[in-house]
Amino acid sequence: MTNYTFVNYKNTKSLIPKEVWLTAEHLSETEPLFMTEHLVDNDGKLYRRYRLRTCDPTRFVETLDYDIECPHCHDQLRLCGMAVDAMTHGLYRCKRCDDEAERRR
Ligand SMILES: [Zn+2]
Repeated sequence: MTNYTFVNYKNTKSLIPKEVWLTAEHLSETEPLFMTEHLVDNDGKLYRRYRLRTCDPTRFVETLDYDIECPHCHDQLRLCGMAVDAMTHGLYRCKRCDDEAERRR
């Protein structure tokens, strides 16, 4: 699992992920806003999914204000799943990277 913090988020609504070598457990105690990457196996093809998280309880609607860049192709991530709790927010996908994974055999 890869974890990302964000550059710029205090000044703008555009978030640029930056890979960090810290555990999600550590980030969940210290980082106002971060994202974890998961691989989802769909019929033998691997798709990347991203979970937006905060260390403090945050309203889900507030997290929807952000534009999050894909860490791999720099396209914009799209929301594809709802929040789990007040610190585990939306699930995101990148359409361009999914299309790429789709073509892979
Ligand atoms: Zn992408």
